[in-house]
Amino acid sequence: MRLILLGAPGVGKGTQAKRISKRYNAPQISTGDILRAQLKEGTPLGLQAKAFMDKGELVTDDIIINMMRDRLNEDDCKSGFLLDGFPRSTPQAEALGVMLEELNRPLDIVVNIEVDNEAIVGRLTSRRICRNCGADYNTVTNPPPADMVCEKCGGEIYQRDDDKESTIRNRLEVYNNQTAPLIEFYSSKGQLKSIDGNKAPDEVYDEINIVLEGLN
Ligand code: AMP
Repeated sequence: MRLILLGAPGVGKGTQAKRISKRYNAPQISTGDILRAQLKEGTPLGLQAKAFMDKGELVTDDIIINMMRDRLNEDDCKSGFLLDGFPRSTPQAEALGVMLEELNRPLDIVVNIEVDNEAIVGRLTSRRICRNCGADYNTVTNPPPADMVCEKCGGEIYQRDDDKESTIRNRLEVYNNQTAPLIEFYSSKGQLKSIDGNKAPDEVYDEINIVLEGLN
């Protein structure tokens, strides 16, 4: 299974990616997670990315493309992968196309998850995450414990800096300007399938599965 999950920040790509990745035994590759891990370790890549991430801007294409070239060449991608948060611009999508052609591993499908903008702002401002295991919490639908200690691993639950409202609005604008054109990019190649992401996560997951099962 070689799949891209496309959609604005907060549509539930990460949540769905974790489940699909398990079911199809394909690694979930999240560029945001890789960058945050690099930042935590204080690597030059992480420090370079930080200024962009804090503002909700895209990290430059060359940094991301080089990072993904390395990642896609790792052994665990041989049998498939699930891309979450990449590509996010037309140059990234074009570079990915070249990389996959060189590797002779064409994409199976691009699943585009669509959610109304105001619902996204609500979801992201209430999102909380475990710093250690990445477990998702939500102050409205799945409240974290009062002591903000993760029930799964004992790690610290926090709010991402870029999940503050002003940054979220900027991230949505960046998405509309730079990433949304990929909907046409992949749909014109006949590779795109759109899903209504306003529904409950289980229902969205079922719909994605129907699409993926239809590929076989
Ligand atoms: P995410 O966790 O996917 O919301 O990503 C968090 C932040 O990391 C984004 O707001 C960007 O600053 C950066 N980022 C993640 N993926 C990419 C990408 N493919 N291209 C450029 N910047 C990215």
